[in-house]
Amino acid sequence: MQVMLLGMPGAGKGTQAERITREFGIPHISTGDMFRKAIANQTPLGMEVKQYLDSGRLVPDDLTIRIVRERLAEADAANGFLLDGFPRTLAQAEALDQMLRDIGKPLDVVLYIHVPQEVLLSRLTGRRVCRACGATYHVVFQPPQREGVCDHCGGELYQRSDDTEEAVRTRLEQYAQTAPLVEYYRERGLLRQVDGEQPIETVWSEVRRILLSIGG
Ligand code: ADP
Ligand code: AMP
Repeated sequence: MQVMLLGMPGAGKGTQAERITREFGIPHISTGDMFRKAIANQTPLGMEVKQYLDSGRLVPDDLTIRIVRERLAEADAANGFLLDGFPRTLAQAEALDQMLRDIGKPLDVVLYIHVPQEVLLSRLTGRRVCRACGATYHVVFQPPQREGVCDHCGGELYQRSDDTEEAVRTRLEQYAQTAPLVEYYRERGLLRQVDGEQPIETVWSEVRRILLSIGG
């Protein structure tokens, strides 16, 4: 099963991705996670993309497309995958179409998690992420059992450097480049919209139902 998550920053893509991966066993391919890992490991890619992530701007298409092409060629993607945060521009969407044609794995569904823009600032500034396993929390909406400690692995929770008010504003502006993808996938009959303003578990039951209905 080939699935893509689409939605504004803070819509809940990563939160649902954790559940989808656990239940359906497909690898979670998040370009944001890949870039953050490269930055943490101080690789050449990390050095190149750090300025973009810190400020909230999009990483250039050629670089982003290259890392996805390499990732999709890995063995665990042969039986399906979950794309989260890619594509984010029309050029990326067109490049993805070509890649998926080349490997004979078309998308089954694009889950569009829709939320009104007003809720995003509080979601993003309250987000906390586990440094060890990447699990996502929120200080109010999804608090860990022990403050600052991951429920799953005991890792340390941290605040992303781009979850500051200033970077969030830039990211929301950058979303103008991603918004046309909603129509792009709707025209291709792939889009399924989910109301992301509902509680996390309600969103999850809708997402799960859609994925089961397409044969997940
Ligand atoms: P994205 O991956 O789309 O940027 P996340 O999944 O990281 O978004 O969610 C952003 C923040 O909002 C996180 O702190 C998460 O715990 C919280 N969150 C996610 N879904 C919901 C929801 N349905 N209701 C309230 N808070 C949510
Ligand atoms: P995310 O984890 O999806 O919120 O992404 C965090 C940051 O990584 C974004 O603000 C961009 O700087 C960068 N990024 C992630 N995915 C992409 C993409 N598909 N295209 C360009 N930049 C991206």
